[in-house]
Amino acid sequence: MDAANPQSIPSTILLADDDAFMRRLLTARLTHTGLYRVVEVDNGQACLEAYHQVNPSIILLDASMPTMDGFECCQQLRSLKPAELLPILMITGLEDSASVDRAFEVGATDYVTKPIHWPVLLQRVRLAIERYRLYQALEAANKTLQKLATIDGLTQIPNRRGFDIALQQEWRRLSREQLPLALALFDVDFFKRYNDTYGHLAGDNCLREIAAAAQSNMRRPADLVARYGGEEFALLLPNIDEAGALAIARQLCAAVAQLAIPHATSNTGPHVSLSVGVACMVPRHQQSAEVLIEAADKALYQAKTSGRSRVVSHAHAFSGLS
Ligand code: GH3
Ligand code: MG
Ligand code: MG
Repeated sequence: MDAANPQSIPSTILLADDDAFMRRLLTARLTHTGLYRVVEVDNGQACLEAYHQVNPSIILLDASMPTMDGFECCQQLRSLKPAELLPILMITGLEDSASVDRAFEVGATDYVTKPIHWPVLLQRVRLAIERYRLYQALEAANKTLQKLATIDGLTQIPNRRGFDIALQQEWRRLSREQLPLALALFDVDFFKRYNDTYGHLAGDNCLREIAAAAQSNMRRPADLVARYGGEEFALLLPNIDEAGALAIARQLCAAVAQLAIPHATSNTGPHVSLSVGVACMVPRHQQSAEVLIEAADKALYQAKTSGRSRVVSHAHAFSGLS
């Protein structure tokens, strides 16, 4: 067997049947194909326990078993999130329509009756596993795509879409908990001149360095730094007060100053600098998160017009406190 080729690794079949002779027969037929390995149990309860240990590609369930029958077992398996789409094939001597209906009601994928028609069983098992593998591959691809759709290609931090999703989540969560949410919007000063002086590629590198510095400046797992657009970034800081958010914004400016990226055509000094607008509020359920963005944006505008390379708090700038 070639371990590097997943196709050559036998799929695990979990088989639950209280009839030892039937189990032996099924195992012999299934393993004979060379495609499967079979794990046997003799009741539904044991099947649920084994499911967590063996990670099967399909479950073959006898309908009538002691302790827990196949219908009950099937129903319980379906309520487990990872087993939502796992193929479950019911095998039974009960051919009455009520049993068939019940099997599908509790979520069985398919149904075969005893005495077993072997070619039919083998084809159904093969097809069910193939479909399940395809579904798993699609799900993995979907996850990768979703992740890619929220990450900025240049800086590898969340993009505007990733930021919007996080903002909505935090806004809802903190409006329930009645705790503050802070937002710092920061923008690179005289970045057009930076590009004009050093070239667009150097500009791209500068944005990468700033993103990395901002990211490593984050302290708590729920804090998020995102590329908001162009040379503008956002820091989302849940459960922090205004003073705490201002302190983090100042640390960020210091971290970028420490990078000491030369900027000969800047008016604020010899190195690349940031202007930051900070806003902090306890979200209200009936209010849109836009109010937080607007407040931080106004503060950022104030930071720009009052000289750049500084942090401005919305509360201070617009309440006469400054
Ligand atoms: P201010 O201090 O007022 O912010 O001035 P500024 O020049 O930084 O602002 P302005 O909005 O005039 O220019 C932003 C520049 O950022 C223009 C644009 O070409 C550049 N920019 C936006 N995205 C990128 C990018 O991905 N890479 C590079 N290299 N430049 C970018
Ligand atoms: Mg700028
Ligand atoms: Mg800008």
